[in-house]
Amino acid sequence: MLRATDMAQLLVRPVIKPGDWVVDATVGNGHDTLWLAHLVGPEGRVFGFDVQPDALAEAAQRVRGLPQVTLILGGHERLSELLPANAKGRITAVMFNLGYLPGADKSIVTTAITTLTAIKHGLNYLAIGGQITLVLYPGHFRGAEEAAAVRVHAAQLPGDFTAAHYGWINTLRPGPELVVIERVRE
Ligand code: SAH
Repeated sequence: MLRATDMAQLLVRPVIKPGDWVVDATVGNGHDTLWLAHLVGPEGRVFGFDVQPDALAEAAQRVRGLPQVTLILGGHERLSELLPANAKGRITAVMFNLGYLPGADKSIVTTAITTLTAIKHGLNYLAIGGQITLVLYPGHFRGAEEAAAVRVHAAQLPGDFTAAHYGWINTLRPGPELVVIERVRE
């Protein structure tokens, strides 16, 4: 079965080249971080953010020995403060997998306000052709609010960006959704 997270990888895959700088905005257990690290290779850089020390510790094990990965204990809403200044304009992918981490504390979830702040900062760092992918989980209350906020924000972006929205339409509860934003010009 194609999941929203697979769909995000499919769409972002062609824009990432060896040597690129990319961001995993929600590291969680580090699966996307590792995937990104292989794509950018040892000459690239992956900046991974998460607010849960335990998640980052597990992710650190998964990416051990890969010098291109920098794991940052901090919220993605602080992206501008925590990324190096010279990352501006050279980030080719920022991946978000929102919601809570399965198997961990379900009260630690991404929220509409911090996610929107992170998107706004992330847009400033995108290279031309770079993408922000967001996997949304509207099946729970906070997730529905967050998904709506992301959809509305993405729909109102100016012409420097394209924004697309993908969803699964025969699910009983609202299934995961994917929003992809691409910078098309300076
Ligand atoms: N819902 C997904 C997993 C999401 S993991 C699934 O079903 O697989 C989301 C991750 O985002 C968690 O590890 C959580 O700690 C992290 N997170 C929550 N708020 C954050 C923030 N402000 N900045 C960065 N990461 C955050």
